[in-house]
Amino acid sequence: MTETVTKKLMLFFPKCECEKPIIYHLVKDYDLVVNVFRAKVTPEEEGYLVLDVTGAEENIDRAVEFVGTFNVTINAAGKGVTWDPDACTGCGHCVVHCPTGALHISDRATMEVAFDEEKCIECLACIRVCPYDVCASAF
Ligand code: SF4
Ligand code: SF4
Repeated sequence: MTETVTKKLMLFFPKCECEKPIIYHLVKDYDLVVNVFRAKVTPEEEGYLVLDVTGAEENIDRAVEFVGTFNVTINAAGKGVTWDPDACTGCGHCVVHCPTGALHISDRATMEVAFDEEKCIECLACIRVCPYDVCASAF
């Protein structure tokens, strides 16, 4: 009997892609059980999906390959993102780029920036935009 495994996938896609056909194909074509944790899909904006897929490892690999044929960035490593509060200058640049509010202004008076790890979907946007390399990941 084929062993069943569960993998966490984080998908980031541009305005033109829709999550529905992707999930449909994962379920129908690759026989996976899909559990969506977090999703933001609006036609005019970039979107993301954080999900667990359960099924035969070989099918998961094929499904990831299939998703890669869309204009989608896939993060299947789940290594986490770290934020160093001591190194953060509070410039706020990352806040507008963080899709989930994980990086946010915690105090409007002082404009202090804070990081809520629970909300982080590891899109890595903050790593790209932080001028001071405050955010890091093992990816
Ligand atoms: S990786 Fe950075 S930008 Fe993306 S959700 Fe996490 S904290 Fe926000
Ligand atoms: S962009 Fe970097 S330095 Fe600026 S608030 Fe975000 S983490 Fe801090």
